[in-house]
Amino acid sequence: MQAGKMRGKRTGSRHHNTHPVPGTARAEAIDIRMGVFRQPAMQTPVLVLNASYEPINICGARRALVLVLKGVARTEEEQGSVLHSHRVNIQMPSVIRLLEYRRIPHQTRALSRKNILLRDRNTCQYCQTVLTAAELTLDHVIPRCRGGLSTWENLVACCRDCNRRKGSQMLHELTDMRLLREPRPFSLHTSRHIMRMIGSADANWRKYLYFESDQAA
Ligand SMILES: [Zn+2]
Repeated sequence: MQAGKMRGKRTGSRHHNTHPVPGTARAEAIDIRMGVFRQPAMQTPVLVLNASYEPINICGARRALVLVLKGVARTEEEQGSVLHSHRVNIQMPSVIRLLEYRRIPHQTRALSRKNILLRDRNTCQYCQTVLTAAELTLDHVIPRCRGGLSTWENLVACCRDCNRRKGSQMLHELTDMRLLREPRPFSLHTSRHIMRMIGSADANWRKYLYFESDQAA
């Protein structure tokens, strides 16, 4: 997928340098971006904090490592596994923090199928069945053919049966279907909720995700 980019950089790396040299981190960052390391740990989600320690994003370990090696971020918590390369051993991060504060507009957060399902806790918003992501569909509450948009406020997790039953009808035209709850627009709360769902297995994330007033949420 990045074959075009890789080709140019690969030519110089024929002569492996076994001694740590200035620019090693840079070279390492390039290797990681090129996908030289293919351990499953590379796909592990990493929590990204702003310089202020506010959680702002989740990225894959591969991207997180590149940010750390480029000096854009530092590792706050480690996964506990080590990436071995011919140059150095690198601790895999679990939480990283940007060294410079970035203003992050919330509207730019990706509206994705995955995030909608996480917001709705993998629960069909009509019949309340909890299913796997693969078993769920996204339903436009106001159907697309009637002008409904693909927005946080108009998309909900929906099982296949309910989706079929609802078809292109409006909710008020159906007597036996109603929403479990109004689909929430994207907010700081949604963002934290999604991060918690993804990071629920990682104890390292907890102290960064549970703070402020949403402690009780
Ligand atoms: Zn359903």
